[in-house]
Amino acid sequence: MIDVDSGFGPSNLPYCVFAFGGEVSVGVRLHNRVISLRMLVENGRLPGECGASNLNPLMAAGRARWDDVRSTLLEMIERDDSGVTAAAHNLEEITLLLPFDVADYVDFYSSEQHATNLGRMFRPDADPLLPNWKHLPVGYHGRAGTIVISGTEIKRPSGQRKEQDGSVGFGPSRRLDIELELGYVIGGDTRMGEPVSVKEAEDHIFGFFLVNDWSARDIQAWEYVPLGPFLGKSFATSISPWVVPTAALEPFRVQQPVQEPEPLAYLQGDGSWGLDIDLEVGLRSSAMTVPDIVSETNFKDMYWSPVQQIAHMTVNGASLRTGDVCASGTVSGSEPGSYGSLIELSWNGSEPIQLSDDSTRTFLQDGDQVTLRGLASNEESTVGFGEVTGVIVP
Ligand code: MN
Repeated sequence: MIDVDSGFGPSNLPYCVFAFGGEVSVGVRLHNRVISLRMLVENGRLPGECGASNLNPLMAAGRARWDDVRSTLLEMIERDDSGVTAAAHNLEEITLLLPFDVADYVDFYSSEQHATNLGRMFRPDADPLLPNWKHLPVGYHGRAGTIVISGTEIKRPSGQRKEQDGSVGFGPSRRLDIELELGYVIGGDTRMGEPVSVKEAEDHIFGFFLVNDWSARDIQAWEYVPLGPFLGKSFATSISPWVVPTAALEPFRVQQPVQEPEPLAYLQGDGSWGLDIDLEVGLRSSAMTVPDIVSETNFKDMYWSPVQQIAHMTVNGASLRTGDVCASGTVSGSEPGSYGSLIELSWNGSEPIQLSDDSTRTFLQDGDQVTLRGLASNEESTVGFGEVTGVIVP
């Protein structure tokens, strides 16, 4: 089980937004304390963008400014600057908030294993991957306004679904699911009509966080043909409060899987944007005190990288906006215990998951709490993502 408090040393320094004493500030986490950047701006130590009430002004300022702020903070921490101590709050005394205003939201489908599993389940007689899958990063535009911070209760959605007898019914979803994903947020606007290349995309990724893309499979199954995900996805998407700077993930960059067939020129790069990050899914019923870890996987086998996703998303001339959130798509490994959704873990409901309270699950019940955690660790560095959690309520 990943330790939720590990990986918050000086090599990480994730951003957050928090409330303390009636004031909302941008912060940076160091171990179990959060440094108020607002206070460091007031002391003239950091540029004005860091004194805002969310990350958008700093994200809009561009990568050179992000690098400056990070190196200033690191330098202050390394020489034990008294200004850092004076600006630090204990985690227990602050309230973490959504760290940025979300602009647009795009969810991809970039795990080959996940796409293959779903294909095998729903099109058993056909090639599990659809013909486009290895030529472009499949995705859809989601609902930005329902992205919520970790800890927000998730109300079970209601909607239309096709019943067993073939009739069309309405009611609370009976197949409420999770999707284990990694997200990133865009900094720096681009102009309409000017695609962002794979190389340029590197300068627009401000940082990464955990995403639980809650999904109502019964609503989704009935509505999604021919235009794709809609109400089965748009009711809520939860993100973790810590935005891990892209720079902190440099030690965890690995080669992506080989792409065959070779993608078109605009999607080609050096393949160096695989990310070696351990991920896990914890599930706790209302009768349990400690979650069971129902899935453990790693991000490094994702087929399409973030920079390829950005290049594809803008190749038609669509612009980027500061605050755009992109999510990876469900992260699934090749073993049954490494799948990133309940529909895969229970194989479409046919193989229930055994929980330690002697109950079983195919999909989520009211009172269930789902917690996703992430941690990158090697001999060079350890970087924590913390967790994103949510409880299902009727
Ligand atoms: Mn998703």
